[in-house]
Parts: sequence; C-alpha cells; structure tokens
Amino acid sequence: MDAFEYNSNPGRVIFGSGTIKRLPHELEALGLSRPLVLCTPQQTSQAEDVKKILGGKIAGIFSQATMHTPVEVTLQAVKYAEESNCDSLISIGGGSTIGLGKAISFRKGFYHVTIPTTYAGSEVTPVVGETENGRKTTKSDPKILPGMVIYDVDLTLTLPVGMSSTSGINAIAHAVEALYARNGNPIINLLAQEGVRALAEALPEVKKDPKSISARSKALYGAWLCGTCLGSVGMSLHHKLCHTLGGSFGLPHSETHTIVLPHALAYNAPNIPSAMDALSKALPESNGDAVHGLNVLLSKLEVKRDLKSFGMKEEDVAKAAEIALSNPYWNPRKVDNRDAIQELIRRAWAGEDAK
Ligand code: NAD
Repeated sequence: MDAFEYNSNPGRVIFGSGTIKRLPHELEALGLSRPLVLCTPQQTSQAEDVKKILGGKIAGIFSQATMHTPVEVTLQAVKYAEESNCDSLISIGGGSTIGLGKAISFRKGFYHVTIPTTYAGSEVTPVVGETENGRKTTKSDPKILPGMVIYDVDLTLTLPVGMSSTSGINAIAHAVEALYARNGNPIINLLAQEGVRALAEALPEVKKDPKSISARSKALYGAWLCGTCLGSVGMSLHHKLCHTLGGSFGLPHSETHTIVLPHALAYNAPNIPSAMDALSKALPESNGDAVHGLNVLLSKLEVKRDLKSFGMKEEDVAKAAEIALSNPYWNPRKVDNRDAIQELIRRAWAGEDAK
C-alpha cells in the first residue's frame, strides 16, 4: 500500500427523517439562543418552519442567498447579522445558502448549523467560492467548515426531480475525482465508492417516486459521503472545467457538472486504471466500463447532455479552453494540449458522446 496522510474534518452530523426537530436541544447544548436563519427567496417557508420549531426564538431571517455567493449579498447579510445581534447562523437550503452561511461565519466567527436540502455537499467542506466583479475565487480554511449538519431527509422531498438528478450527479463528481486525487487515501476511496453506489442506486428510484423516504435517505447518505470526499482531497480537471464554465459563462452549477463528468472521466481514463475499476464496480450495468456505467445512469435519469441548451455559445468553447488551461489544477493526465481540451468542451457543448 502507498504511504498516505488522512485528516478527518471535525463536525457533528445528525441524520434522519424529522431530525430538524432536534434544533432547540442542539442549540441549547451549545449555549446559543439567537440564530440568524439564512435561505433563498424560494425557501422562505422552510426558514419560517425553523422559526416555528425554535418557538420564535431567532434573531431574524435573511432570505437573499444567491448562487455563486456574490460578495455584495454577503456584505448585506453581515450588516443584517450585526444589527440583529445574532449569536449563530442556521443555513437551510442548497449550496448557495450554505455558501452564504460560510462567507458570513468566516468573516464574523459565528457558529454555523447547516440543514442541507440538495446533494451538493458544501456543508462538509472547508471551502467557499465567492463572486466579485464577475470573477469567482475560492477560499479554503478550516474556519469555513460548518460546526453541525442536520440531514433531515423530509426536507429533500420537495427538491424537483430534475434538480435531484443533477444535484446527485454533482455529488458523484466529487467522489469520481476523489478516487484519482493526488492526495487520495484508502479511507476516502471507501467513502467515494460507497457514495457513488448509494447515489447510482437511489437517483433512478427518486425519479420514479420523489416522495420515497427510503430512496431519498439513500441519496442524502450518498451525498454526505461524496461531499466528505470533496472536503478532504483535491479535485482535478472536471471541477476546474465546471468552475470555469459556471464562473465565466454563468452556466448552472449541477447541470454543468452532469454534462461535463463523462467527458472529463473519459479524458482521464487512460491514466487512472484503479479508479476506473472501482467506479465500474460502484455503477450498475457498467459491464466493466465506468464511462459506460455513467452514461447508462444519465440515460435513466433523462437529464440534458449539452451545454448549448443552457445558453453557452459555440464561440465560448475556445474561450473556456483558454481559461481552463491558463491556471490548471493538478490532473492525473497532463492538461497541456489545447486542441484536446477544446474538443472535450466542444463535445460537452454539442451533447456528443464522451471519447
Ligand atoms: P442551490 O443552493 O443554488 O439551489 C438551487 C435552487 O433550488 C434554489 O432556488 C433553492 O432554493 C432550491 N432548493 C434547494 N433545495 C430545495 C428543496 N429541497 N426543495 C425545493 N427547492 C429547493 O443549488 P446547489 O446545487 O445545492 O448549490 C450550488 C451552489 O453551491 C454553487 O454556487 C456552488 O458553487 C456551491 N457549492 C459549493 C460547494 C463547496 O464545497 N464550497 C460544494 C458544492 C456546491
């Protein structure tokens, strides 16, 4: 076995149906009594539910969380937090809301409780991506890691089927890249394989019956494991491409991950035999080929496979390749051939098969 280093991220995790009701007890145990509740404009009713569960004892609700964590929204929220005299944060929602909670707690040091309602995984990572003047930059610091995660499966039942599928593939992408990370290790490999297995089984079941508690539980469990992979080891070409496409061309986060993943995996395949083997075992109907297994899953989920459907223009393909090559992440296969990367992005743009 190769030598390795493993650091587990601290944090309390409470998992299960109805677990949001544990909030009063959990806050009391921490000596906290004035949380500021964060959400998007679409999830204010879930923030109101948090207020009810806490018997009205909150400092306020800030409901302007926005995708890609714009700094101007964070600064408004920081002002609101100061004026409300809060002593902690509760973010209820997907990666956008949790990103806002991280951006505030990093600046002000508040204890941060997260209640995730998608499969993006931000709640278990010490990372926040912030946008300012049209540029997205990423910060990583142990102080950014939230203190507690409450995975209440019931809150995911309202996540629309299409978003559930792409958010689940976004989670799988974290595990895929963890399996060939430069600083990978056997513990994270176990989590990655189990995360992919759980999500690949759960997502088609969620599509058939979005209100199934057992399918939703399996999906959320898989998302937690995959998020833990993202929070523990470095990501490579796939995440770099999605970061570029989301940050520079305004493409939606989970849909972009879903489209790009088979292409990035096919590009890396010749250099990652053991990751391909592990993935092919975790993906049903793969016939020993992880890219095929991923394509089978994406076909079952009937998700969009082309970036042009989300408004990306053909002339942006060359620009995206340029940006991706300008400051590449470490990758198991060299990222120095402009034509190869441009062709990868073009195929994802056009919705052609991964090669
Ligand atoms: P999101 O948080 O933007 O949510 C998308 C939409 O779905 C929002 O309108 C939201 O209110 C709604 N929604 C969420 N849960 C719902 C539910 N259960 N029922 C009904 N509607 C619901 O989407 P996301 O994909 O979770 O997060 C994307 C953002 O998170 C991006 O900005 C991405 O960069 C960031 N992210 C960061 C990390 C990290 O580790 N820092 C990890 C993953 C994602």
